[in-house]
Parts: sequence; C-alpha cells; structure tokens
Amino acid sequence: MNPTPIPNGPLEQKWDEFKKHCRLVSPANRGKYTVLVIGTGLAGASAAATLGELGYKVLVFCLQDTPRRAHSIAAQGGINAAKNYQNDGDSVWRLFYDTIKGGDFRAREANVYRLAQISTQIIDHCVAQGVPFAREYGGLLANRSFGGAQVSRTFYARGQTGQQLLLGAYGALMRQVQRGTVQLLPRREFYDLVIVDGRAQGIIVRNLITGELERYGGQAVILASGGYGNIYYLSTNAKSANASAVWRCYKRGAFLANPSFVQIHPTCIPVSAAGQSKLTLMSESLRNDGRLWVSKIPGDTRAPKDIPPEDRDYFLERLYPSFGNLVPRDIAARAIKKMCDAGYGVGRSVYLDFQECLAHNRAEMDRKYGNLFAMYQRITGENPYETPMRIYPAVHYVMGGLWVDYGLMSTIPGLFVLGEANFSDHGANRLGASALMQGLADGYFIIPYTLGNYLAGIKPQEVDVRGEEFQQAAQQTHDRLTALLSVGGSCPPREFHRQLGMILWDQVGMSRSETGLKDALPKIQDLQQAFWRDVRVTGSAQGLNQALEEAGRVADYLELAAVLTLDALARRESCGAHFREEYQTPEGEPLRDDERFAHVALWQWQAEKAPLRHEEPLNYQTVQPTVRNYR
Ligand SMILES: Cc1cc2nc3c(=O)[nH]c(=O)nc-3n(C[C@H](O)[C@H](O)[C@H](O)COP(=O)(O)OP(=O)(O)OC[C@H]3O[C@@H](n4cnc5c(N)ncnc54)[C@H](O)[C@@H]3O)c2cc1C
Repeated sequence: MNPTPIPNGPLEQKWDEFKKHCRLVSPANRGKYTVLVIGTGLAGASAAATLGELGYKVLVFCLQDTPRRAHSIAAQGGINAAKNYQNDGDSVWRLFYDTIKGGDFRAREANVYRLAQISTQIIDHCVAQGVPFAREYGGLLANRSFGGAQVSRTFYARGQTGQQLLLGAYGALMRQVQRGTVQLLPRREFYDLVIVDGRAQGIIVRNLITGELERYGGQAVILASGGYGNIYYLSTNAKSANASAVWRCYKRGAFLANPSFVQIHPTCIPVSAAGQSKLTLMSESLRNDGRLWVSKIPGDTRAPKDIPPEDRDYFLERLYPSFGNLVPRDIAARAIKKMCDAGYGVGRSVYLDFQECLAHNRAEMDRKYGNLFAMYQRITGENPYETPMRIYPAVHYVMGGLWVDYGLMSTIPGLFVLGEANFSDHGANRLGASALMQGLADGYFIIPYTLGNYLAGIKPQEVDVRGEEFQQAAQQTHDRLTALLSVGGSCPPREFHRQLGMILWDQVGMSRSETGLKDALPKIQDLQQAFWRDVRVTGSAQGLNQALEEAGRVADYLELAAVLTLDALARRESCGAHFREEYQTPEGEPLRDDERFAHVALWQWQAEKAPLRHEEPLNYQTVQPTVRNYR
C-alpha cells in the first residue's frame, strides 16, 4: 500500500532523511530511461524540464497546441512561500501549520511539512529563471496576504502569477527541447495507461489532429493532468480541464483519494445567463483590500452607494473578527451562501467593495489589481472603481485526486501523479496560493529524487509497444470511441454535462446531506443511462473532432460523479469544504469527527461492482488537531 514509506525521525528531518538514503541513477545511465509526462501545467512542465536537465529522456504530452496554454496560466493571485520577508512572524513551521489547519486536519503531516520547507526554494528558483514577481520600492520581493493566514507570504506578479510562473517553466522546458532531452507532443489526449508486469510502462494517446491512436512506452509515467472541477459544468477552470486522465488511471487500478473534497471559491463573478458555460474567478488577493458586505435589510433594492454605512453588514468582519475578510475559502463561501439564503444578497451575490482603499491610494490599487478590475468590467459591464463588485461562490479546485505515497507514486508502481491531479497536501480545504506552490514543489523538487529512487531499482529495458498489453489497451480505446460515435442519439454531450452539473451543485456542492446525496445517486445513474442511449456525437474518429473529445470527457464525468457522491455520503462528518448539514456546531461551523474520520478515504475500481473504500489513517504526531477557529 505504501511503497515509499515516510521516513522515521522528527518531522523537520524527514525529507532530508529521505534524500540522504534515496537511490540514485548514475548520470551516465539516465538517458537510457524514458519518462512519459502527461501535462504541461506548472506541475508537468516543471517536472519535464527538471528531468530533462538531469539527462532522462522525456516525452511530454498536452491537449493544447503549446504547453503555454495549460490551465495554470489562468492562476491569478500568487504563490505562498515561508520567506518571512515581511518579518511578520512567518516561518516554515507556521506555513506548515496554517496549511494543515486550513485543510481541517485531513492531510499528512510529513507531506505538508515538506511542502513548506520547499516553498522557499521555489521562489529562489523562479527568480533565477527571471519570473517578474512584484517588488517593493527597495527592490525586495513584495508579498500580500491570502486567506487562513495572519502573515503576508504570498508572492505575486500582478493578477497574472500563474502566467509568469508558467512562462518560467516553459522557458526551462524549451531549453531541454533544444538540448534534445525533451520531446514535445502537443495536441495529444491521454486515453489509457498500459501496465506491463505490474508496472506502468506506457500510454495510449489520441492525436487530436489526425485522430490516430498512438502508443508510447517508457519506464515511468508521470500524470500531471490537473484537476476535475469541471465535473460541475460551471467552474472557474479552463474549459479544457477534465477528469479523463485521472479516471482512466483509476480504472487501471490507481486508487482515488477523497474525491468529494471540492473547493468552492467565494469570490467569483455570479452566473448571469442560462446558457453560460464558464465562470470567472476574482482572485482571493482582492480580499486584502476589498471588504465583503450586504445590506442589513433583506431584499434591499437601493443602489450600493445609497446604502449608508450603518445599514451595511460587513458580515465576515462581524463573524470572524480575528481573520475578517481573510478567512479561508470554505468559511467565506459558506458565509456568503448563508447571507444570500437568508435574503440579504443582491440576488445571489454579495458586494466586494474597494471604495475605502481606492479613496486612499488609487494608484497602488491599480498596480496591484488593475488587470482584475479591467477583467471584471469587461465581463459585467460594471466599473469596480465606481461601484462594488458583485460576487458569489463557484467551483474552483479539487483537493481530491489520485492517491500518492510520500514519493508521489500512485498505487500502480511506476505511475507518479503531480499537481492538482493528486490528492496530496491540502486536506479538506486548500489555502489560497498553495496550489502553485504544491505543483512546483512536486515538479521541480520532489519528483527528481523520488523518480530516481524508483528507476534505480529497475532496468531500462526497451518497452515493446507492439506487445499484448499495448494491443489490448489500444483496442479498448478504439472500441470506446466507436461506441460513442455509434449511439446516434439526439442530445449533444454538453447537455448531459450541464444536467450533471446541476445535480452536483445542488446536492453534492457547498452543502450536503444524507437525503440529498442518496437522492443524487440514482439521478446520476439515470443520466448516465440516458447519455449512452441518446448522446449525439457528430463526425468521425479520423481527424479533429471536438464533439468526440467532449463526449469522452462527459462519459467519464458521469462515472466519476457517482464515486464523488459515494465519498461524500460515506464521510459522515463535516470538515473543510465538505459540509454535511447533519454535522455542524451550534454556530453553523463544520463538526469534525476525528475518532471515525481522521483518515484519507481511498476508492478502488471494481468494474461492474460498487467501488471499494479503503482508509489511510492520518497519524498526527507533531500537531494536535483542534477545532478550527478563525473568530
Ligand atoms: C482561475 C484560477 C485561478 C487560480 N489562481 C491560483 C493562484 O493564484 N494561486 C494558486 O496557488 N493556485 C491558483 N489556482 C489553482 C491552480 O491554478 C491550479 O491548481 C494549478 O495551476 C494546476 O496545475 P497543474 O500543473 O496541476 O495542472 P494544469 O495547469 O491544469 O495542467 C494540466 C495539463 O494536463 C494536460 N492534460 C489534461 N488532461 C489531459 C489529457 N486527458 N491528455 C493529455 N493531456 C492532458 C493539459 O493539456 C495541461 O497541459 C487557480 C485556479 C483557477 C481556476
């Protein structure tokens, strides 16, 4: 179950212990190993570049025409690191503790501590690459605050941090492409994992331009395919983000961990039209200077400028005086929903107001958030310099993903999972600016050690892609594509996706109950049957066919949705973003049950039978899980 054990010894020394004893591949032999990397977001690009630099032969695949278009490019607000440039009391320990607590004590101590330790290296590395982080007047890197922390530790490049970090990783990747260690294979969709002799040794991809099914072999596969938040149809994720790569590995035997841990981001532009297919994030960084409020009078129809201060309820500041507007995302999202449910919202939204800071220093606000303000205005037609933004929570990130051990290896030997695709570090709720930190820690700093440790134990024998296992996997992919094309129904895949999204949002979303979850399961099953009876996929499998791509992804979402719901049902407690109505404190906060649920839930595919649930206990040796309190 755990092929890379967590080293013994004090928490602070575990990662050093691992590095001290891990096996190495000699530089002279690295070029004999082929590593297949799926994904060129921050996790995949950083891994591929680093492994190429080390001398491995790397093949890297992505859906887009260029690695630079990975979803990571959309990340806005920043990346955390325990540099303590502000001298405001930060430390590796504090970043570790905030992250463990932010995740409501549902993550592994050793992984999270390692993440906090590595955070400082990431910043140095990216600065050396030329990433243009914002700087203070004196030249030091600037920081801002994100939710769930009382220190300022978030490094940023305006509202485009992901873009700048990805350009850094892309530069490093292209250097390796030029050196010949990395081969780029864009416009490829991963369809299946090939397991030979019990180890991941290959993949089947579909060339999205020619339609051809291609086979690639190697001694290890690294999956960095991002998160599956788009299962909810409406989310802040890029439209290309999907569950399929994760799901296909699950069906080949990789366990799925905590699939129901889904982050709903509090500050997004509300849904405005029935046909909408995408939601837009307004970065958490805005809560540094923006204040959330609603009118104290339910159903108030006055314009915000006509509502005097005494009629305004700055509800986060009232409810959580210690952290105010910078409470973690799960807490802020639920508070917003409650205000709207109780009739205080502006329809289904609340105000995010910058008037005080704008009056004080408009130039500074422009510098920090100018592009976010412009984006808001372009989308809504409202000018946030003059009137408060209106925001509402939306699906944003998944903490769940493929289970990995301390070495980031899944339950399938040789299959490593990085970035948002794994479940590793964020427990039941991710703190803002920690996803970029985790993706880059995984890619730049962890996988070079743990992959070497794995490869050192196996011989770099050539993998025969004409072998039986490849043959079978390619045939199954072909059959599946044919099945999708031959339903010949009347309803486009998107409509099934939209309906699935509504079920999940209503019954497996921000608030969950036993009754709602039990009711959702047969609805999902019915929808799945309707899909295979009536989906219409136009075109053919030869050549570019976006309807076919979409249908495949929706078919996978429909299957994953059932496991996600089962996971939410089985976890009879509330923790972080997983809020079960039956388990709450008198103040309406999540009520954990550490006795029965201080574990990671792992799901194992059982073909026609219901999936099996396993547990990995979370043994806290250094911190004492407490009731999360941000009041
Ligand atoms: C709007 C927005 C803003 C955000 N802002 C921040 C922030 O400020 N700070 C922060 O820490 N986090 C932020 N996040 C979260 C963060 O951006 C993501 O968690 C992170 O970028 C994921 O990186 P990744 O490398 O794991 O995956 P991705 O960047 O999603 O990359 C996935 C890669 O896998 C490829 N791929 C996917 N499926 C397949 C397939 N089937 N076959 C082949 N290739 C495939 C894609 O082509 C792509 O190259 C934000 C998220 C959103 C949605």
